[in-house]
Amino acid sequence: MTASIHPLPTASATYDERAVKAVHAYSTGRAFQHKEHRNGSALPQLWWVLTSQSWVGLPISVFLIEHKDGLVLFDTGLDPAIVSNPEYISQAIGRLLLKRIFRFEINPEDKLGETLRASGFEPRQVRKAIISHLHFDHIGGIADIPQAELLVSYKEWDQLSDPHPERDWILREHIERPSAKWCPIRFEPSGDAVFSSFPRTFDVMGDGSLILLPTPGHTPGSLSMLVRSSLGPPILLVGDLAYSADAIFQDRVPGTGDAKQLRSTYAKVLQLKADLPDLLIIPSHDDAAIAQLRSCLKTEVTHADP
Ligand SMILES: [Zn+2]
Repeated sequence: MTASIHPLPTASATYDERAVKAVHAYSTGRAFQHKEHRNGSALPQLWWVLTSQSWVGLPISVFLIEHKDGLVLFDTGLDPAIVSNPEYISQAIGRLLLKRIFRFEINPEDKLGETLRASGFEPRQVRKAIISHLHFDHIGGIADIPQAELLVSYKEWDQLSDPHPERDWILREHIERPSAKWCPIRFEPSGDAVFSSFPRTFDVMGDGSLILLPTPGHTPGSLSMLVRSSLGPPILLVGDLAYSADAIFQDRVPGTGDAKQLRSTYAKVLQLKADLPDLLIIPSHDDAAIAQLRSCLKTEVTHADP
């Protein structure tokens, strides 16, 4: 594991329309969460964690961008070892709580490397992986892509300085792998007028096609990625900023995260939507949004069916 400062290209005011060749969405298995977790609740969190019987299914998405300069992933999904290895979570309290918070339907073939191969890609082809945040269902595939630069915000990376990041579902033992090429990034002032609500951005490939935006709330250092191309409308991959795009439009915060910070980021995303009216907002755990993505892009989107 090496933590180094990634080179900081300047965000461009225009973007290369032909840089992105295809966008794919895959799901590395499925999970179930409580309705109160997904939609929010007036009840205390511990109450619904221990008593709720309502489970809602969701995809655990990763997105693969075929860029002219190489493959770029947005998140790496869930490791099937979370169900096959009883020691995957090293703390007993974490193992106990996980069963109350999530259920999983995930098989060995859902591993990131297998998922990519099933779609005709080799994991070693992945040049960069953007990690929206460090929760276990977004970092589970990093062992399959040791050659890839793993881009994460410095603010998110700083959580590993906490003595107990596992209390926030950040599993140090699966993140600080010797083979992982972590590259924490800092957002830089953007000269692009379209980002009026996001004055600081990070241009992943230096051509304006893939732009990272700070979108805190679910975790302090969560980020989103804007994908712009001639394939279709601009796409904002928002990770877990919201569990469904509707929640952003309805200003409805989930039963987890920092509600005030979430609402502040929702407002910035809605401003971006006002600046880019065609914008598709795609959360990682939203079947309806993935279906919308499929219908709007001139490229195949596979493995996303419920
Ligand atoms: Zn997630």
